[in-house]
Amino acid sequence: MSFTNLGLSDHALHAAQRLHYVEPTPIQAQAIPVIGSGRDLIGSAQTGTGKTAAFVLPIVSKLKSHSHTRCLVLEPTRELAAQVKEACDDFTAFTNLQSCLLHGGVKYDRQNRELAQCPDIVIATPGRLLDHIQNGAVKLDRVEVLVLDEADRMLDMGFMPDVRRIIGYCNANRQTMLFSATIPPRLADLIGWAMREPLTIEVGRRSNPAETIQHVLYPVAMNQKDELLMALLDRTDYKSVIVFSRTKIGADIIGHALQGKGHKVEVIHSDRSQGQRTKALELFRSGEVEVLVATDIAARGLDIEGVSHVINYDVPENPEDYVHRIGRTGRANHAGDALTIFTAPEQEHVTAIEYLINKVIPRVKLEDFDYTYTTLLQDSGPGDGRRKKTGARRRRR
Ligand code: AMP
Repeated sequence: MSFTNLGLSDHALHAAQRLHYVEPTPIQAQAIPVIGSGRDLIGSAQTGTGKTAAFVLPIVSKLKSHSHTRCLVLEPTRELAAQVKEACDDFTAFTNLQSCLLHGGVKYDRQNRELAQCPDIVIATPGRLLDHIQNGAVKLDRVEVLVLDEADRMLDMGFMPDVRRIIGYCNANRQTMLFSATIPPRLADLIGWAMREPLTIEVGRRSNPAETIQHVLYPVAMNQKDELLMALLDRTDYKSVIVFSRTKIGADIIGHALQGKGHKVEVIHSDRSQGQRTKALELFRSGEVEVLVATDIAARGLDIEGVSHVINYDVPENPEDYVHRIGRTGRANHAGDALTIFTAPEQEHVTAIEYLINKVIPRVKLEDFDYTYTTLLQDSGPGDGRRKKTGARRRRR
């Protein structure tokens, strides 16, 4: 299978070649012809499978050259919107199509100037887009293609009323695409209302994380989590690592602790300013900073090359979040490690994750780590029989 059989324009094909895309990924092979035919589409694919190119390449082929605002892409977070804008810049490189990024946390001036040029493609988060609509800076009545990306995430984040209002401003005679991991009932309502006889494409169940990821659980007593995190980082041969924390305060505390131990660290969560978030991602992407501490805001969809390890400082309460977190590593068939620090009260969350991914995750003890007692470390504990005995000393309190 090659890109040349998918009905893409020469300009889009050149752009894909320039990025050294040789073969379309499964979602691209299936979605590109459907989008090219003008049909509404619901797409579901594992993270990191090339979903962005799957919709941007046929849109670029369809729009051809600069005219007026004809495509709107809605994204749940600023980071995802920025990432799709980058992909648009890459894929429109051989055209005169213009795209514009609209999200909150930054001034309006530049966005207003860009909107005055009637960009062909607008990539936006819902809140800021509504501000621009209300100010009369953008008109969506000639939008021919609407993309609702990470729709379940937009639902989780409470954006559905805004999304519905925005769709109401778009041309009724349009093509609509929706990408989502799951289709909960409230999304099914939206689909019935906003889409016309959509075709559904599912490439691998979203709950199946990439095969190339190795999962490990590190049981430990609550009061040794920090110590174990430091020991894991010291003993792991990582290229770049994302440490996930369930809370923003937790992420800040971990960031400080790691800095105190001499690690180069950046922290990303929703209470940080847009400038801080952008800088953190830039430093991490460029390799200047090897450790990124993040809350789940960074877990969805972010495409950061070469993340060798994900460490969960705590077990996510929602098992789907585990899949999203670890999806930051093992992307595009590279090997990756997902290490999860695990304390006794989190047993039920671990069980839910193992059920979701349909696999028992090995419990491992770190060699020579001075463990204090926890029920999880008992030989008769909830291990899977594959727990490695590494000779770690156990102290009973
Ligand atoms: P996405 O799932 O859209 O976040 O894409 C994940 C990564 O795969 C991005 O870095 C893309 O540049 C890359 N990618 C997408 N499609 C292809 C392809 N056909 N061949 C090689 N890499 C690709």
